[in-house]
Amino acid sequence: MPNDPVCGAILDEKTSKFKITYDGETYYFCSLTCKKRFKRHPMKFIK
Ligand SMILES: [Zn+2]
Repeated sequence: MPNDPVCGAILDEKTSKFKITYDGETYYFCSLTCKKRFKRHPMKFIK
């Protein structure tokens, strides 16, 4: 199961409405807030 790279929440890829494809990888988010934070500074959240 994917987890939100911003806040660490465990998510379900089937029901998650907030996702983004960055550098060939798909990332899922619990909320629009987390998605926006990721978009602003992706490198901060990618390991
Ligand atoms: Zn989150």
